[in-house]
Amino acid sequence: MSYAVFGGSFDPVHHGHLFIADEVINGFGYDRVIFVPAYRNPHKEQAPSADEEDRLVMLQAAVADRPEFEVEEYELEQKGASYTINTVEYLLNRYPDEPRPGLIIGDDLTPSFSQWERVEELRQLVDILVAYREGGEELTAVGPHRRIDNAPLPVSSSEVRARIRSGRNFRYLVPDAVHAIITAQSLYREVGYR
Ligand code: ATP
Repeated sequence: MSYAVFGGSFDPVHHGHLFIADEVINGFGYDRVIFVPAYRNPHKEQAPSADEEDRLVMLQAAVADRPEFEVEEYELEQKGASYTINTVEYLLNRYPDEPRPGLIIGDDLTPSFSQWERVEELRQLVDILVAYREGGEELTAVGPHRRIDNAPLPVSSSEVRARIRSGRNFRYLVPDAVHAIITAQSLYREVGYR
């Protein structure tokens, strides 16, 4: 059961995330995508806005109807800064018989990729799969990689959060189940969310 790893804050998960995960299954033939919510992304200045339990519940709800999509809680359990290399090493130990995994990133992350923790080891262990997001990004910092053939969806978690905060419509930017959780629990609306 080959797999591709997809890390992120998922704060909240949105259709941009799910679309590229689906493209990786359909386009590259991986059997599954393992979503790994970060406890804290060392490359983001701000800590996540929703707490880890809420982000996890939304992500689990978003993928509940897709057996090919799994959620791995390793980084949430580890706490602290979440480094992809540690997660990849954990997954390689957990699934020792699987083929070389993929690693999904959006092209907004590619300029800073060379500064990722133990990046050379990471390059040795995974096939890097780069999604179109902003376009025109500098890809040389990534090194060898494959391009995901996705149409760029201009949706981001920060856009979703900003819309919720200001009372604007966000209904179709996230899966129905995520919309229902956010609405029922008033996530991202109250003081304390960013
Ligand atoms: P924020 O707006 O809070 O920075 P985000 O929308 O970028 O969040 P993350 O959870 O930080 O979401 O992203 C996880 C991964 O998904 C990253 O590799 C990011 O590049 C990628 N990604 C997020 N949204 C999209 C999108 N619309 N298209 C392609 N890739 C995306």
